[in-house]
Amino acid sequence: MGFFDKLKEGLKKTKDSFNEKVDGVLKVFKRVDDELFDELEEALIEADVGVQTSVEIIDRLRDAAKKEKITESEELSVKLREIIAELMNENISEDENRSGLKVILVIGVNGVGKTTSIGKLANKFKSEGKKVMLAAADTFRAAAIDQLMVWAERSGVDIIKHDEGSDPGSVVFDAVSAAKARNADVLIVDTAGRLHNKKNLMEELKKILKIVDREAPDASKQTLLVLDATTGQNALSQAKLFGEIAEIDGIILTKLDGTAKGGVVIAICNEQRLPVKYIGVGEGIDDMQDFNADDFVKALF
Ligand code: GDP
Ligand code: MG
Repeated sequence: MGFFDKLKEGLKKTKDSFNEKVDGVLKVFKRVDDELFDELEEALIEADVGVQTSVEIIDRLRDAAKKEKITESEELSVKLREIIAELMNENISEDENRSGLKVILVIGVNGVGKTTSIGKLANKFKSEGKKVMLAAADTFRAAAIDQLMVWAERSGVDIIKHDEGSDPGSVVFDAVSAAKARNADVLIVDTAGRLHNKKNLMEELKKILKIVDREAPDASKQTLLVLDATTGQNALSQAKLFGEIAEIDGIILTKLDGTAKGGVVIAICNEQRLPVKYIGVGEGIDDMQDFNADDFVKALF
C-alpha cells in the first residue's frame, strides 16, 4: 500500500467523524451565514479540534468568506481545508540536518506508545542509511527493557541496557559513550512515563539531558513528546503539562488508526505551538509516518 493510502486508511475513523460532523453541516446549510458558522464551530469542537482552535479556524474562515465573497457552502469547504492546513503548517519546523550524533529523548506517560514509536523510528532511520542506537532508560520494569530489546532486534540496531531498577542516568551515560565509540548517527532514549510527581519527572529528564550535554556537547538534541490520539482532549492536556516539565521540540502522535479523535492534531499544533513530527497509524514496524499537514488535511476530507 502506498504512503498516502496508508495514511488515509489509518485516519478512516477520524475522517468518518469529520465527514459526519463538518461535511454534514455544510450539506444542510447551503447558505453562508452566521448560523452556518456557528454550526461549523460546534462541529469542529465535536470532532476534537478543541474550543480555542475551532474558534480561531471559524474566525479565519469568516474573514476569508467576507473578503472573497464566498456565498456557497461548498466553496467554503475548500477554504476550510486550506485554513486548517495553513494553521498546522505555521508550527512546522525543519529538523536541523547537522552531521554528527543526534540524541532523541522520547518522553510521555505510560502506555502512549513510546517504546513502539522508538522501534518504528529506529527502523525508519536505519532504512535511511543511518547508524541507530537505542538506550533503555525506562528502567522501572524488566518488561519495558525486554520490549525495547525486541524492537532493537526487529530493526537490527544496537541497544544499551542495564538491569531493572538501575539509574536511568547511568544507562544514558553508557549509551552516549557507546554511540560515540561506534560512530552512531542517532541515539534514541526510551524513558519512563511513571514518576511519582511532576517535579520528580522534571528532575529526572533534566539529569538525563545534562548527561547528554556533558558527554556529547556537540550532539544535536531533540525531545519528542509522545501523545496517544485515542485520548482526544486528554492528549492536549498532557501536551500542556509536559510543556511545563520539559522543553519539547515536537510531538509523536500515536494510534491515529484506532480513533475518531484525530482532529486533536490540529489543536495540538495550534494551541501548543508544537510541530507534530511523526504519526503512528498502526502497531507494525512500518506504521510510522513523517507528519505532513497538507497530506493530513487531504486524507481527512
Ligand atoms: P509506552 O508505555 O509509552 O512505551 O507504550 P508502548 O510502546 O508499550 O505501547 C502501548 C500499546 O500501544 C502497545 O500495545 C502498542 O502496540 C500500542 N501502540 C503504539 N503505537 C500505536 C499505533 O500507532 N497504533 C496502534 N493501533 N497501536 C499502537
Ligand atoms: Mg515503554
